[in-house]
Amino acid sequence: MRRSILIRGTALTFTAVCGWIAWTQNPPAQPLTYKQVKDDLWVIDGTSNGAGDAGNIAVLVTSEGVILIDDRFAPDYPEVIAVVRKITSQPVKYVMNTHHHGDHTGGNAQMLAGAEIVIQDNARKHMIASNMPGAPRITFSKEASVFLGGKEVRAIYNGRGHTDGDVAVYIPHDHAVHLGDLMAGTRGVTNPVMDYTSGGSLKSWPATLDGTLKLDIDTVIPGHGAVIDKAGLIAHRDKIATVLKRATALVHANKSKDAISSAMVAEFDFKPINLRALDSLIAELKD
Ligand SMILES: [Zn+2]
Repeated sequence: MRRSILIRGTALTFTAVCGWIAWTQNPPAQPLTYKQVKDDLWVIDGTSNGAGDAGNIAVLVTSEGVILIDDRFAPDYPEVIAVVRKITSQPVKYVMNTHHHGDHTGGNAQMLAGAEIVIQDNARKHMIASNMPGAPRITFSKEASVFLGGKEVRAIYNGRGHTDGDVAVYIPHDHAVHLGDLMAGTRGVTNPVMDYTSGGSLKSWPATLDGTLKLDIDTVIPGHGAVIDKAGLIAHRDKIATVLKRATALVHANKSKDAISSAMVAEFDFKPINLRALDSLIAELKD
């Protein structure tokens, strides 16, 4: 993480919040930490193992195998498997990717040797376009379910947000959902981070979250940060809607880039990734 910040300069803020750029350094020695959130559901904490910016992994255990939601960075693979071994003797049969960024799909290439991975169409296209390893063999446009051991895990595409390929991965019987980076922060309620180069959209984001809010959920696993409840997701959705409304007003008032940027920082501590992202934000909100 520290090394990537030094190297990547302008990507600093984006990397700090999301950190999808694959981490190729040696993994640190600390063990991964994980906790049980339902009878059959565990979450491996993305901040453990010293990585800090890795995505949270959900581990669902069934009588016929394990379904993972996301798989961190590639160097974390042995430790992820070691954690699964501590939880159950069942093998990993499926991985559902919440989106294409490397802090959520880095383990794919190794997982594919023994498991099938499911990802949204647009997300797979981004992996191919970026020459990312571990592109899944199975895709879908709107919705896909995996049924294993009498349990269902359902990936649902509700529209653009962080990218144009983010899904909510819903576990109906647990009333739980993994939202990937449609929600990514240490306190649940967070600023939106749009990857405009991968189809991200602030304008669409609140409606995308509304799709998840229609689900019967009491447990929300964010892409990064602590597991929260439905009220936390509602607060997060409302924050993003507020940021969208204010940014739109500033753009429609023809404020300068500097004025928009400083107002958003002052009011929301909202820092677009870099000037190019600010350009994309303004372009998106113009009409
Ligand atoms: Zn991401």
